[in-house]
Amino acid sequence: MVPLEGGCLCGAVRYRVTAEPVDACYCHCRMCQKTSGAPVVAWGNVPIEGFAFTKGAPISHQSSPKGIRHFCGACGTRLAFRYAEGPTTVYINLATLDDPEAIKPDYHIWTASQLGWFETADNLPRYADDGPDTFP
Ligand SMILES: [Zn+2]
Ligand SMILES: [Zn+2]
Repeated sequence: MVPLEGGCLCGAVRYRVTAEPVDACYCHCRMCQKTSGAPVVAWGNVPIEGFAFTKGAPISHQSSPKGIRHFCGACGTRLAFRYAEGPTTVYINLATLDDPEAIKPDYHIWTASQLGWFETADNLPRYADDGPDTFP
């Protein structure tokens, strides 16, 4: 599957994934909704040693005590998330991959804040909270 490459809408920030993802999920939390402006964000969780920004430098915003979000300062595309303390993985926004279907989500988290007008017709596991992970 790897290497995979991706980047923002305007092309100023690019990244490369060189390690197989641990897993992937849809996150329905309010922070993902607010930062993306979308009802849900699909994240791929990749080992931190297998992730690098290869062009440009993203803006980093600490969105909670637990997490830092990286986005393009020119076009605003949300690219990645990592834990503030001792991250071992980086979450990449799957829709920003050059091949956005290369990694498919395995489950849903934070469905407690899933929007009532948004539904997906899949049978993936659904967790009201952070589920099997500790995604904030
Ligand atoms: Zn950009
Ligand atoms: Zn989220």
